[in-house]
Parts: sequence; C-alpha cells; structure tokens
Amino acid sequence: MTRRQCTGEYKIKPIKQKVRQILGHPYPSHVPKGVFVEQWVGISTDEFHRAKDADVKYMRNRHPLLDLDWSRADCIRYLASRGLADTPKSSCLGCPFHGNAQWRHIRDTSPSEWADVVEFDAAIRQGNARANASGKRLLGEAFLHRSRVPLGEAPIDHVTAAERAELQIGTGAAEVLENGVVDGCSPWACRGDADAPAQDDFGLAT
Ligand code: SF4
Repeated sequence: MTRRQCTGEYKIKPIKQKVRQILGHPYPSHVPKGVFVEQWVGISTDEFHRAKDADVKYMRNRHPLLDLDWSRADCIRYLASRGLADTPKSSCLGCPFHGNAQWRHIRDTSPSEWADVVEFDAAIRQGNARANASGKRLLGEAFLHRSRVPLGEAPIDHVTAAERAELQIGTGAAEVLENGVVDGCSPWACRGDADAPAQDDFGLAT
C-alpha cells in the first residue's frame, strides 16, 4: 500500500473548512477560545478503540452509539426495523480496501459508478500528480485492485488460485480478499488504519 491521503484530503480538510465557516472564523483566522461545534461520530461498541477526541479545540467529538451502548449488531437490527436492512458499510466508491464482493456490487448495480471507478483507477496509475510534480515520483504503478491489474480487467469474480498461491493466504485472509476490510470508514476512523499491520499479507501494494 502506498501512502494514502484520502481521509485527510477528501474528508478531514473539507470538514474543518466547513466547520470554521459555520463558526464564522474561516482559515487562517483564529477561532476564539470556547467557540466550538459538537460533532457526532458513529462509533459502535465493537470498535470503541476507534473513538478519539478531535485534534482541534473548535470541534468536540461525541459518540452517541457508545452512549447508547450499541454494537454493530444493534445498529443493523435498528436499520432493519426501519426497512433499511441492506445498508452497506460506509466507504468511498474507489477504496483500495474493497474486496471483490464490493467491486462486483458496484459493477453489477451501478454502471455509471463502475465507469467512474475504472476511470479513477486508470488515473492513479502514475501516482499522485502533485508528488510527481515535486520530484517525489511513485516507484512503480498504482492500482486499486490487489491483483495490480486495471480494475476493468481485474479478477473480481472470485479469489483466484494464483492469488492464493502468491499470497499464501489462509481462510481468514481469503475472506478479506472477498469481502474487504471489515470496518467502514469515517473521517475519524479510517478503515485503512485497522488493517495496517496486515496490508502486506493481502498484497495491497503498488
Ligand atoms: S473509504 Fe477510507 S480508506 Fe477507503 S478511500 Fe475512502 S477514505 Fe480512504
């Protein structure tokens, strides 16, 4: 896995910009002491270790699911009771932590989003444009799918025998290859963080 900037660039930065705007103190003006927003973050009891304080004084995090003592199963039960049984875990469309099942779901249910992620995958091949311009070129090529094959041609219909042999994976890792990283992603609990030690095992590399 190459260095990712997705959470910081696409989530945290815009949220902080918006919060400062709401508070009436856009960057770089100083936010006075005692002026803050309360931000609710949906961390359930199974992942309480992902609950963190905000890193700036003008935002204060609250975790209502922890206050309610709700687990992931409680959330799913509640969603089902409201007719939302098939709510997927949250993540970006073009997330490199997707498993084959998530890629197939996009391909088979939303042709326009599939075209979008295939195009995005092609666009990242040479790495980050800004880093390249500043002389920090990507060594190699970047791909969204662990096979390091362009997404539109990648083997997403099953975990191939070649992948199993190459990665020497067991049943648990094969499950992640099929279903992706179990965690959803929020600005304050990136799904990539939870999986960091195991990334090499899953071939999530450039
Ligand atoms: S879901 Fe999280 S880890 Fe995946 S691309 Fe989005 S911000 Fe990055």
